[in-house]
Amino acid sequence: MFRSVLVANRGEIACRIFRTARRMGLRTIAVYSEADANALHVREADEAVLIGPAPARESYLDQARVLTAAKATGAEAIHPGYGFLSENAEFAEAVMAAGLTWIGAPPASIRAMGLKDAAKSLMVEAGVPVTPGYMGKDQSPERLKAEADAIGYPVLIKAVAGGGGKGMRRVDEASAFLDALASCQREAASSFGDDRVLIEKYILSPRHIEVQVFGDAHGEVVHLFERDCSLQRRHQKVIEEAPAPGMDEATRQAVTAAAVRAARAVNYVGAGTIEFIADGTEGLRADRIWFMEMNTRLQVEHPVTEMITGQDLVEWQLRVAAGEPLPLKQDQLSIAGWAMEARLYAEDPANGFLPSIGRLDHFVLPDDIRVDTGVEAGGEVSQFYDPMIAKLIVHEETREAAAQALADACADIEVWPVRTNAGFLVRCLEHQRFAAGDVDTGLIGAEEAALTDARPSDAVIQDASDLLWRSRNVDPNDVWDAEYGAPGFRLNAARVTRQTFFVDGVRHQAPYENNHPVVRYGPQIDGGFVVFHGGDAYAVSRHAPRGAGGGGASDGSLRAPMPGKIVAAPARSGDAVTKGQPIVVLEAMKMEHALVAPFDGVVGEIGVSVGDQVAADAVLAVVASTS
Ligand code: ADP
Repeated sequence: MFRSVLVANRGEIACRIFRTARRMGLRTIAVYSEADANALHVREADEAVLIGPAPARESYLDQARVLTAAKATGAEAIHPGYGFLSENAEFAEAVMAAGLTWIGAPPASIRAMGLKDAAKSLMVEAGVPVTPGYMGKDQSPERLKAEADAIGYPVLIKAVAGGGGKGMRRVDEASAFLDALASCQREAASSFGDDRVLIEKYILSPRHIEVQVFGDAHGEVVHLFERDCSLQRRHQKVIEEAPAPGMDEATRQAVTAAAVRAARAVNYVGAGTIEFIADGTEGLRADRIWFMEMNTRLQVEHPVTEMITGQDLVEWQLRVAAGEPLPLKQDQLSIAGWAMEARLYAEDPANGFLPSIGRLDHFVLPDDIRVDTGVEAGGEVSQFYDPMIAKLIVHEETREAAAQALADACADIEVWPVRTNAGFLVRCLEHQRFAAGDVDTGLIGAEEAALTDARPSDAVIQDASDLLWRSRNVDPNDVWDAEYGAPGFRLNAARVTRQTFFVDGVRHQAPYENNHPVVRYGPQIDGGFVVFHGGDAYAVSRHAPRGAGGGGASDGSLRAPMPGKIVAAPARSGDAVTKGQPIVVLEAMKMEHALVAPFDGVVGEIGVSVGDQVAADAVLAVVASTS
């Protein structure tokens, strides 16, 4: 076994890998960008090397700088984590050429699975079921259209070089095919430098089922059962679990055997995941699960597999990379209980899931379950990297108990002033379709309005009122305060008074009632304090909010939440718009964010054009209220 490991990554996954490496007695080495000088992964490592400025291209993605850091520190092995350089075959080769151990997939396997059409053809040869479709060389629009007609609509056009949900178009009828093809090819050419596409049957009620596989350098391959990652928002996973609800033994046998065949077909070594798509209209059935792609790395959601199998997958990776045989044989692996993971993001579901960047002044995560995180109180969520701040993982005997435990854990989260999706996670976990195991990848889209509704309940408003009274250090039953008392005060009448206050900028009135509060009291802010309830944070204040800023759009200005580029401006100056209608679309942190009308109104000036680069907090457009 090598004696030291450099992790070419950051955040929770760097910390996760260090944890196992430390336990195994290895020297741990971090690399970091200027933005991460005070990051947790830097402090946790035995040594850390600054490799460049904040943008990933100039630091975490810069192969030469990572290799130089490895040389300078005498690192014997490199673990790439996920994302960044983890599926870069060239980098894997460079690491090995430098005489270091690569803790990842063999470059040839990475390449074989890199292009969707080639990977699918390979899988067909290996006897792995693939989604029905066309993946041929003839890329003429006529041929592609004829193939789509033959497959039957709806179909999905996918860029063969695509990834991260980009370069995909669903087409519902023949007449829309050619336009969709042209736009998909344009996006593919500009994003991946390769405009080739394949056509697939669009699977209805799709469920995302994936199988964890592991290979060693001695030709052995095992699987560690399946995960279900069907709860997605725009093709991004939100909650993952293992095993998959409704998976019977025969179907499990079929899908895990197919995954092992897939891994063997590319002589796989190390941790990998075979992703399948299942038609969930009639539950999971072996003849309705098809290969989608292989991820040749450790996945974000690997902890749920660790929980149900009792294994440490990072330890497996280190041992396999060192040339040891797989720690266990297939018949020594089994499933115990039910595990579930939620991804905590610094984002604002009530505001189009915009990433919320800034300092984590108040940051409290549950301490009685497994939490994988790369930040701590006082840390920063920066605009440069993925805004995932933690993963919460539970392991219980049943699915029902796991969902309940995870909902309770998410409800205990307290973060301020950065916004998170914790309340959204609670609502997802408590959704009756999720509880029933009736999840497909469209659930969040279909239920988005209810799942993102974070308006305070009556109980929260009542608690806010009571806490405001108490925070003034007066007994409302003794002191009658004209400033806060409502008009209509009557002597000798029942002691009822109402005070006016603001919760997240919205005006409320409530009497004082000496209730036992359901909310938890949080940090002080201007004119009041923050309360936490059910994962959501509410700003309670005696004053009306002053202007915009702080994410508030109450004056109708739409401000850039972070630096980025304007990629669309669907509304024009003078347009009448309704609340929620997109006005400008900003591309930042590799995602598109629509800035929407905060209320019904008329668009005033739009200060930007498509293609403009804008700074954080710049006013992009103004909407004047008509109500
Ligand atoms: P990417 O490589 O861009 O992540 P994938 O091929 O893995 O693209 O697909 C991403 C997501 O798109 C899947 O998780 C699934 O939700 C959806 N998807 C992919 N193929 C199909 C299909 N044939 N029918 C319906 N949905 C699909």
